[in-house]
Amino acid sequence: MLKDELESLLETQKKEWSLLATNYDALSKVERKFFDFGGFIVRVEHNPARVVSSLAKTDAATIAQRKCFLCEANRPKEQEGIEFLGKYHALTNPFPIFPKHFTIADKNHSLQSISASRLLDMLELSAEMEGYVTFYNGPRAGASAPDHFHFQAGNASYLPQPEYLPCDLIGKESFSSGTQREITGWAEDTIAGLKNRQKETEAAPEEEPMMNIFCRYENGKWTMTITGRKKHRPSCFFEDGSLKISPGAVDMTGVIIAARKEDFERITADDIRKIYAEVSLGKL
Ligand SMILES: [Zn+2]
Repeated sequence: MLKDELESLLETQKKEWSLLATNYDALSKVERKFFDFGGFIVRVEHNPARVVSSLAKTDAATIAQRKCFLCEANRPKEQEGIEFLGKYHALTNPFPIFPKHFTIADKNHSLQSISASRLLDMLELSAEMEGYVTFYNGPRAGASAPDHFHFQAGNASYLPQPEYLPCDLIGKESFSSGTQREITGWAEDTIAGLKNRQKETEAAPEEEPMMNIFCRYENGKWTMTITGRKKHRPSCFFEDGSLKISPGAVDMTGVIIAARKEDFERITADDIRKIYAEVSLGKL
């Protein structure tokens, strides 16, 4: 199973790759606080290692100028990959959020963009990673490499509640089935529905709808969840002296990553409500 291979790779890399070891070590010291929104618990974490991703510029000009960190030629020499489906390299993530956090990157430099075949790959990946949640950050909805296709995977138990539980703060839709055809059919319909609402979002008409996709495989069934996005970053991110919160998929499950200590200390329930109202598309 890919899961077993990745878990053992992670243990090896913790011994051999100092950047990864340091960041995993720091993870055990992450500070947390909790906000209860009528039974839906939002957890805020201060994770300084995430400053690289949270504050990263992801505009086209910046992306075009930097060396892609998911391309094999540019990856740190310590970052070994495990081949998956003949077209991906499954990698350890050296800037973890989850206690075990992996990036599954296409072997080729190809755009972050979802399709029927990518959805099928996501189902295959999830089936190999039982106990994990696999997820996809849209190119303008949290991906820090919008130019290189990748999924991520992290321990499902790390999330305070399953990402598919309904909640008033974050609009999302979920669907469960034991058949691949039903799941991908549902996902394609849901994505088409989001496309119709594109006017309400920052995405241009020709781009894919702004969204995050999650998938889990449990007891022979997949559960896929899609959350539509209005924006990548909330207005507070751009205001002087304000909160630098940059929501990706993980934040849309109710775990807000604060890379800077001052943001972790200052954030309030009202800020959280406002951030989700701005970045979530609401009911799909
Ligand atoms: Zn690349």
